[in-house]
Amino acid sequence: MDTKMLEKETKNIKDLSPLEIEKFVLENNMKPFRAKQIGKWVYQKKAACFDEMSDLSKDFRDLLELSFSMEHSIELDLEQISKDGTKKYLFNLSDGNQIETVLIPEKSRNTLCISSQVGCALGCTFCLTGTVGKIRNLKPSEILDQYLMVSKYNDDKVTNIVFMGMGEPLDNINNLVRVINILTDPNYIGLSPKRITVSTSGLVPKIKELGEKVSVNLAVSLNAPTDELRDEIMPVNKRYPISALIDASVKFPVPNRKYLMFEYVLLKDVNDTDSDAHTLGRLLSGIKCKINVIPFNEAQPLPYKSPSRERVLKFQEILISYKINVRIRKSRGSDILGACGQLAAKYPSKKTNKAQANN
Ligand code: SAH
Ligand code: SF4
Repeated sequence: MDTKMLEKETKNIKDLSPLEIEKFVLENNMKPFRAKQIGKWVYQKKAACFDEMSDLSKDFRDLLELSFSMEHSIELDLEQISKDGTKKYLFNLSDGNQIETVLIPEKSRNTLCISSQVGCALGCTFCLTGTVGKIRNLKPSEILDQYLMVSKYNDDKVTNIVFMGMGEPLDNINNLVRVINILTDPNYIGLSPKRITVSTSGLVPKIKELGEKVSVNLAVSLNAPTDELRDEIMPVNKRYPISALIDASVKFPVPNRKYLMFEYVLLKDVNDTDSDAHTLGRLLSGIKCKINVIPFNEAQPLPYKSPSRERVLKFQEILISYKINVRIRKSRGSDILGACGQLAAKYPSKKTNKAQANN
């Protein structure tokens, strides 16, 4: 048989959910605990091939080998290290597209910022990924391999995962849920749900769906205090206005002792005035939440500018006067264009892959 064909037809085992692996195991008359052994080999012991799975019989390893592939679905193209220690990884996908992943080391944790799509359909006017449009969803294996490969390159363990890289995770919710199930299953990666954050621009029905399917932290990219302004900079607001977004967000079941988070990118002279801060303060006062204020990270060719430090502090001070828990987020990795909104990559298939855009 043509090996290329075989490669195409063979599913990567990392595209299977824990339940699907268990189903495969049961269908082949093996005991359910075999699924856990496979999970441990793939995600904890980081086996390179099925043959390494020494506690499975040779026959079963051969069957796995015939049924699935397990090689990396992405390939490292470039690693850049910022002077603040942030690392940015550029990965090649098998179809020639590229994605970026960012590792942010801090004193008590190592946060990995993961991409969920190639490009993004939602077209926020301040975001580089949004200028590209959506090219395609990432497969579970392509999302999980960002974690597995970055973990391999670094001695310090990845402790936290944020879906704040390229793409809108809730526009790829089926694969996102599979990935979260693998990240949190103790027999697979085993991270606490409290250490995983999904950031969304506000696909309201999907917020509800996510809350019904998994437990994770939610970060909502608000970015404007009124519908008029949000319509302008985040077109998704025309479909799901602020009132509907806040309603869905406060109902989201965040893990115990965790807070719903809002993000607010400060764009100079666009959404950073005293009046904007007061309107935002009134909007969020009384809601149990935290807000991250993110000074805009400048990225060519976007027309926006970052506000002065003074403006950022004043904006924060006004929010505090409404008793809102507000933090100014540092722009980690901006010298290597690794900060929020600066991620970009080559998209050779932009013109040819239109048909995949709705996958
Ligand atoms: N699509 C999701 C997650 C990816 S964007 C979302 O929109 O939430 C992650 C965060 O980066 C969002 O809060 C977004 O508002 C912010 N962001 C986008 N471009 C930015 C930029 N140039 N400077 C600072 N933050 C930016
Ligand atoms: Fe997409 Fe998020 Fe960028 Fe908006 S901010 S275009 S939703 S990635």
